[in-house]
Amino acid sequence: AEEYIARVEGADALNAFVHKTPEIAREQAAAADARLKAGDAPSLCGIPLGIKDLFCTKGVPSQAASKILTDFRPEYESTVTTKLFADGAVMLGKLNMDEFAMGSSNETSTYGDAVNPWRRGNDETKLTPGGSSGGSASAVSADLCLGATGTDTGGSIRQPAAFTGITGLKPTYGRVSRFGIIAFASSLDQAGPMARDVRDCAIMLSAMAGHDAKDSTSADLAVPDFEAMLDGDIKGKVIGIPREYRMDGMPEEIEALWAEGRKMMEAAGATLRDISLPHTKYALPTYYVIAPAEASSNLARYDGVRFGRRAQLAQGDGITEMYEKTRAEGFGDEVQRRVMIGTYVLSAGFYDAYYNRARKVRTLIKRDFEQAFADGVDAILTPATPSAAFGLGEMAEADPVQMYLNDVFTVTVNLAGLPGIAVPTGQSAQGLPLGLQLIGKPWEEGELLNAAYALE
Ligand code: GLN
Repeated sequence: AEEYIARVEGADALNAFVHKTPEIAREQAAAADARLKAGDAPSLCGIPLGIKDLFCTKGVPSQAASKILTDFRPEYESTVTTKLFADGAVMLGKLNMDEFAMGSSNETSTYGDAVNPWRRGNDETKLTPGGSSGGSASAVSADLCLGATGTDTGGSIRQPAAFTGITGLKPTYGRVSRFGIIAFASSLDQAGPMARDVRDCAIMLSAMAGHDAKDSTSADLAVPDFEAMLDGDIKGKVIGIPREYRMDGMPEEIEALWAEGRKMMEAAGATLRDISLPHTKYALPTYYVIAPAEASSNLARYDGVRFGRRAQLAQGDGITEMYEKTRAEGFGDEVQRRVMIGTYVLSAGFYDAYYNRARKVRTLIKRDFEQAFADGVDAILTPATPSAAFGLGEMAEADPVQMYLNDVFTVTVNLAGLPGIAVPTGQSAQGLPLGLQLIGKPWEEGELLNAAYALE
């Protein structure tokens, strides 16, 4: 723990850790030592982790990287962190992210950009670690912690994992409790592990997952020992290659990476099959209706009364001015954009045209996957991202839709509630990490991790 506390201390340039908790880490490490001495060695005993700022940690700032939650210290602990700590984990601190997990580059954070430890060859340009779990990705990639929690609503675990050369798993919706995780889009949000490799993700997932009476969407299913399921044997498994993911203008290096992944799966004994997921092209517009709709509702609670920060009011200001000023000052541009889109698509006049239609298309996207699995496909292989990590500032000021395109390969998985994993499998021409994504059947994270193991 002392070694990792010192590493975190020396890595401010990455802006990955936004609240450091060395005292808590020392206390937890001492408790872990005592457990080890007593012959009790849970799987994460003494393992230093970072926790995304979206998780409520008792008495420790939990701001979702938003100005509006300045000084918010929750009275309670999220279920995920409770479980990790019960399993002996040591918390080094809270990790940077996009504000309320809205973004793909960590540039919407009130703490400023998190920085990717990788560079393009000798070019010193600072790159994004991806988002929204950018701090988690940067910290694991730079070995400031052995693992980190992430959350993934449309790709926020998998895209940053791919941009930083680490492994990130978004579990099946309902596998991990959402209790105490600050909500973005409740029907899509899912927490998962971000770690150096598949095995570490398997160990962390077993510790994080499980039924929780405090989250009505958490599944009452036994949690297997995912690590024990890893043998790399995928002989006879059928890996689907969806033709709709072969997008026009896909960079050659991504195409080559995908081809390399197919070869690796075949070499491990799997059979490849071309499949069709015909509604893929509607996934981004569907996601960018549903996610903002749910966000606008979830973010209504930040009103200057109940949590965090209230704006300075003028003489004569009433409750409406308090709401308006607090929210105008407290929310950044991207969050305000989402709230406006969300309230628009939910408004009486447009509800059927946008929100209801998006819900129907979501069902069609889900059925595409169900059909593929019913036809005998065991897992689906795609690129994780359409490019390698881009430079900080290179995309932020551009058209926001440009940024949304980062999620083209990942949002389908959230809309369908499936597990998906990003595994580092190659390098760009400029020496940056590139990742592939494997998509699995619901509740079969064990099989998915095992298939991913064949890509390492
Ligand atoms: N980049 C996507 C968005 O901005 C996904 C974010 C996430 O998964 N939390 O909504």
